[in-house]
Amino acid sequence: MTERIGPGDARYRAVVEKRFNKRFTAHPDYVRLVKSTEDVMSAVQDAVREGQRLVVTSGGHCLEGFVSDPDVRVIVDVSPMKHILYDAAMGAIAVEAGATVGETYKILFETWGSTIPLGEYPQIGMGGHVSGGAFGFLCRQLGLAADYLYAVEVVTVDSGGTARSIVATREPSDPNRELWWAHTGGGGGNFGVVTKYWFRSLDAAGDDPATLLPRAPQSITTFKAEWNWSDIDQSWFLQLVRNHGIWSEQNAGADSPNATLWALLELHRKQFGKIVVRGVSTAGDAAVGQVNDHLAALSQGLLAPHGFELAKMSWLDFALNPLPDLFAAPPGGVSAKVKDALLRKRFTDQQIAVAYDYLTRSDHDIMGGMLGQATYGGRINTVAPDATASAQRNAILDIACNTGWIDPRDEEKNVVWARAFYRALFADSGGVPVPSDAYDGAFINHPDTDLADPALNTSGVPWSTLYYRNNYPRLQAVKAQWDPCGVFHHALSIRSAENIPSRSAVS
Ligand SMILES: Cc1cc2nc3c(=O)[nH]c(=O)nc-3n(C[C@H](O)[C@H](O)[C@H](O)COP(=O)(O)OP(=O)(O)OC[C@H]3O[C@@H](n4cnc5c(N)ncnc54)[C@H](O)[C@@H]3O)c2cc1C
Repeated sequence: MTERIGPGDARYRAVVEKRFNKRFTAHPDYVRLVKSTEDVMSAVQDAVREGQRLVVTSGGHCLEGFVSDPDVRVIVDVSPMKHILYDAAMGAIAVEAGATVGETYKILFETWGSTIPLGEYPQIGMGGHVSGGAFGFLCRQLGLAADYLYAVEVVTVDSGGTARSIVATREPSDPNRELWWAHTGGGGGNFGVVTKYWFRSLDAAGDDPATLLPRAPQSITTFKAEWNWSDIDQSWFLQLVRNHGIWSEQNAGADSPNATLWALLELHRKQFGKIVVRGVSTAGDAAVGQVNDHLAALSQGLLAPHGFELAKMSWLDFALNPLPDLFAAPPGGVSAKVKDALLRKRFTDQQIAVAYDYLTRSDHDIMGGMLGQATYGGRINTVAPDATASAQRNAILDIACNTGWIDPRDEEKNVVWARAFYRALFADSGGVPVPSDAYDGAFINHPDTDLADPALNTSGVPWSTLYYRNNYPRLQAVKAQWDPCGVFHHALSIRSAENIPSRSAVS
């Protein structure tokens, strides 16, 4: 059994303060650094017996305060659990939930030359990441990480309040299969404590561990280019964002030769001085031509971007330090607000005009702030919406209104800007991306509690439909079966069936 680590211990601070988003802070009575499934069971059992609210953390990269919540009394940190190995009995690669994305990339590559399409930041923890679906630089080519999930081990609490360890696989004959399914996009902190994931491609055959998962790319080519805001007026901005949207629509198919290209258009606020496009190609020798064609498509009818940077490197060099300045934060970290949406079509000219307004207007006195537009689709969209809990299988772009700040006194004006911007972008559907032929809702790995606020979501469509679409009732049934006492919860957690929202079916 692991010790209870209290506020006087340096390890307590390390767990409480490891969160990426400094906006939220927890004050638990104690934390536990667990090393095994048995440790997790006894930590959960103690908290349940003592009526103490507990949460689990892995990498600390939650964008909302689901872990860093002042009401939480116990934090169970699984990050000491990092083993990654081939499990012959399961015929799959086992990854403990405390491994980070970077640690997983490294072991998979060095041991088997393989990879999983995980997320874009090496310090993210596998525990909270994979269960939220998980997309990344390789998603257009390989799909979501959850599409490779074969099985999961979870410590749950039954109706008698007893903590138990359950293994659930995707095998049709497995009586626990629904619990596996819920971990392919249901999101972290909902059903129990994940201690281990097993991965295996759906079409993998045989028992050679090197063939169970996709081969890592032979090489990676990264690029970056930029335009100066001083050269940009409204019609120029409109054309750039329109060009980017057209490229994204035309290249969202899994069979597109450009499925090997991932790109991010960073529409920063004017004070930042520039608009940046960057991306990643796995096209090998064809990468340079592919990148040039992409930049030519974006700047059609416009000035070509300047400051062009291109670099070729091995997959592992890239995966452990991808696009270094993308998430760069000063010592002490940043607070952030991220408002995510998935688009099935490019923004209309009216929406682009809204973006121009919020990026250039001076009545919001904030330093940061941008609209990011990342390419999506490809292989992700070849999977049926109910095959996994990740229902959004029609999007072509993942966009986000983001802002960050250091001084807590700057929080309000930053959040006000991001909220107003997002609401104006989606003004035609109650201020949120209601699933339709234009939008595909939002992504639970980028949670935004505003979607559950009736003052900010005036669509009449509940947050649960925006995140889970028609999969929500099924997730509620899993919740009712596997967390009947509601031990695991946070601001956007799945509610059991008695709270089924009135409108859960959206075409
Ligand atoms: C800089 C940055 C970049 C990101 N990039 C991407 C990206 O490219 N793709 C993407 O899909 N997402 C991305 N995310 C989002 C990230 O995947 C999610 O926030 C994820 O939930 C983080 O998991 P974590 O374990 O690091 O976080 P934590 O803060 O530890 O946990 C997040 C949530 O998961 C729960 N959780 C954690 N561990 C477990 C466990 N073992 N069992 C059950 N529940 C658990 C927590 O209770 C909490 O509710 C990014 C986030 C940041 C901050």
